[in-house]
Amino acid sequence: MEDCIFCKIVKGDIPSTKVYEDDKVLAFKDINPAAPVHVLVVTKKHYPTFMDVPESELEIVSHVHKVIQQIAKDTGISEGGFRVVNNCGEQGGQEVKHIHYHVLGGRNLTWPPG
Ligand code: C5P
Repeated sequence: MEDCIFCKIVKGDIPSTKVYEDDKVLAFKDINPAAPVHVLVVTKKHYPTFMDVPESELEIVSHVHKVIQQIAKDTGISEGGFRVVNNCGEQGGQEVKHIHYHVLGGRNLTWPPG
């Protein structure tokens, strides 16, 4: 997607602080962190939202799950606990229309979110 900021980050056209990368996903530090650890995990393939991953491609979701487990270990938040967030669509507060999972940790997180 030409105009998608996360596609540009995936391609390396916009710099990011990478935390993890493989052929299917990229994880990088959020530029406006909401917690001491705030990593975004994005699929390299452009899906606009959570709802746009077709059933035939849902294996990417289990891959993302595995990657988040690794990131949690690598960033030291796996034992204390952390949160995984996907904002979907307008009312879900999604600003960037390229599926991504926020991984937040390193402090006591409150619930419910705003
Ligand atoms: O879920 P939502 O779409 O609202 O989150 C987008 C996130 O992408 C924000 O937390 C924002 O700080 C982050 N972002 C980033 N690097 C950019 C643009 C946005 O980390 N270049």
